[in-house]
Amino acid sequence: TGRLAGKTALVTGGSRGIGRGIAERLGRDGARVAVHYGSNETAAKETVDAIEAAGGSAFAIGAELGVAGDAQTLWSRFDAHADGLDILVNNAGISTSHPFAETDEAEYDRLFAVNAKAPYFITQLGAERLRDGGRIINISSGASRAALMPEIMTYAMTKGALDVFTRNLSKVLGPRGITVNSVAPGIIDTDINAAWLRGEENRAAWESSAQLSALGRVGAASDVADVVAFLASDDGRWVTGQWIDATGGSLP
Ligand code: NDP
Repeated sequence: TGRLAGKTALVTGGSRGIGRGIAERLGRDGARVAVHYGSNETAAKETVDAIEAAGGSAFAIGAELGVAGDAQTLWSRFDAHADGLDILVNNAGISTSHPFAETDEAEYDRLFAVNAKAPYFITQLGAERLRDGGRIINISSGASRAALMPEIMTYAMTKGALDVFTRNLSKVLGPRGITVNSVAPGIIDTDINAAWLRGEENRAAWESSAQLSALGRVGAASDVADVVAFLASDDGRWVTGQWIDATGGSLP
């Protein structure tokens, strides 16, 4: 039982971090969850185990994104486990490690391939599997709306592309009762930020990240997952084409 009982959800990058938080929350709400991963099968299985331990239902599917044919691979693996879906969460993403002056073409292309192109084609091929009245939620970033962190500008540009996709796609799929929204986290404690945010040596970065939020703390995956759960539920049916700030009040 639960408000998503009978629904099927796919969370890309559901193996770790924010995606794991979303997968676990949708599982608790009663959806059967496809937990996608790129290479960390162990992490995906841990997420599936956690969902099942909480009384839910889930399965793992692996597909590297950002390579030719990625969306096709993902859906053929999904189809082996499920017949259509109701909720698609495009969450998998990578960050950048170089500022503007040092970004080469290969890094630029890789960022756009994983963060913008993959969601586009996953959604294009997913649209025929998504049932009417379904939900698409794209995980964006606070960095797409404000020049908060110009050092990750290229990453922010990929999220800007994703947001334009969200807005336009809501008009394309709206006639089928499908809502499409972007959810924009601020700084969340996940592996993506581990190198500069976690550990005693990064105490100052942790403190300044906490202070960036009006609420005075670094976000957790569950802070974002609960916003996604609202949009995924029937309660979210009249919200579409929107950019939902889930930064804990980090934007100016
Ligand atoms: P993590 O690095 O913790 O997790 C990333 C997830 O995406 C993993 O499940 C990983 O799979 C998967 N993934 C990454 N690259 C690929 C790829 N090439 N092919 C297939 N799967 C891939 O990241 P977060 O949880 O922090 O980030 C999730 C989303 O949230 C991203 O879109 C990110 O941009 C966004 N975001 C994060 C913020 C933060 O502060 N953490 C802030 C704003 C937005 P595997 O386990 O197999 O490696």
